[in-house]
Amino acid sequence: MKHFSIRNRIAFTYIAVTALLIAALFSLIYIVIFQTVYNHLDSDLDAEIQEVYSSIVVLDNAIVYANPNEWNEKEHGLIEVNPTFVQIVDTTGTVAKKTPNLREGALFFSHAISEKSYFDTLLAGAPIRQLQLPIRNPTGRTLAYLVIAIPLQESLIVLKNLRLTLIIGYPIVLIALFFISRFIAGRSIAPINTVIATAEKITKENLDERIVLPQNKDEIYTLAYTINNLLDRLRDVVIREKQFTADASHELRTPLSVIKGTLEVLIRKPREREQYVDKIRYVMNEVDQMSQLVDQLLEFARFESGMVRPSVVEFELNALIGDCVKRMEYASAEKNISLRMLTEEAFVVKADISMTKIIIENILSNAIKYSSNDQSVEVSIGKDSGGVTCTIADHGCGIPQDQLSKIFDRFYRVDESRTSQTAGKGIGLAIVKRLAEIQHLGISIKSTPAVGTTFTMTFV
Ligand code: ADP
Repeated sequence: MKHFSIRNRIAFTYIAVTALLIAALFSLIYIVIFQTVYNHLDSDLDAEIQEVYSSIVVLDNAIVYANPNEWNEKEHGLIEVNPTFVQIVDTTGTVAKKTPNLREGALFFSHAISEKSYFDTLLAGAPIRQLQLPIRNPTGRTLAYLVIAIPLQESLIVLKNLRLTLIIGYPIVLIALFFISRFIAGRSIAPINTVIATAEKITKENLDERIVLPQNKDEIYTLAYTINNLLDRLRDVVIREKQFTADASHELRTPLSVIKGTLEVLIRKPREREQYVDKIRYVMNEVDQMSQLVDQLLEFARFESGMVRPSVVEFELNALIGDCVKRMEYASAEKNISLRMLTEEAFVVKADISMTKIIIENILSNAIKYSSNDQSVEVSIGKDSGGVTCTIADHGCGIPQDQLSKIFDRFYRVDESRTSQTAGKGIGLAIVKRLAEIQHLGISIKSTPAVGTTFTMTFV
């Protein structure tokens, strides 16, 4: 079945159904014509009864032949032209009267047939259609039997020819239909071959190739359109992956060359102890930042891979935020920033605890990072039509309107010169965005440069 093409499959299915239908139709045609022919013969026999009765008189005990000419009519004399054979048999089975065309022969007669009945039989080896019926006197006693017959040969030849035509025509019609339907099926799926040919040409290096859309907006059009869309998305993923690798290498190469340069200068000649301590501290700081970046990249790659599934549970958001605030105490104290939780009422939400923690810590750490010394950061929880909301507001440097949509991109940092003083490589918010997507949390941001930034998470 593996190499049984769609074209042949369609043709075979079609033919299987059609074969049954045509067999039913041909049988019906044969039955109708068969019945018509026999009805016609039988009504001819019936007509002859009338004629015979007009030539005899049925008395109480006998039959009188009133019109002997009727028995010598042309059709009863000649055998060749539509002869009609008539014979009267008495109750003992002896032939009492018969038409001359019977010559020495006699029609088949049976005592067993007591009522009017039609049947096929033979006369001198030739097929005939025969009718036998009793002739009764007025009181109902059978005086004799009337037997009438007409030749069947021609009707049988017609029926035989019809049968032959239908039997020979049946396979011919089916074979013709098979090839026609195979041809039509082949033509209708031809565009699929174009789709296959194009798809085969597309490789990872050649993701710009697209399938030409057919003119008819049918299923094949939808197939081609869907594959093209899939290719668009695949290309985007491949480009993003390449970009990610390039960005990550770049971000790691810069501190590495700084470290290498610093150490090279340091070993060029003997130096004072303070100079060593100073440079080694500098190098250690760079190594710290690199290790932080590597941690973030690994975390990001883990979440991006789609292998991490959120385990959604109900928990009290206030407690989780309390934990995060506590962990940020050291960073906020360093800049004398007051980090306050404004809401006392308890709110329960449904989400993944550890993922939500990473989101809140990233937003909180940014709020502290991008605030000036002695400012404040407020966290509050509330409820609106969309669900429970958690708002983190700072009064720091803010983000220009045109860059708001980009800050969730990997390695994106607003104005590198402004942020160069603060640690970070632009990965934090990309992680936040990914984690929010995984859990179907809403994240929105409002910001005014030099006034502050407000992040709002919505738990549905
Ligand atoms: P980074 O490690 O640079 O902080 P993020 O992805 O966390 O990376 O943030 C991306 C950029 O968005 C930051 O470089 C910063 O310019 C801007 N940003 C994020 N949070 C704030 C905030 N609270 N106030 C001002 N700017 C912010």
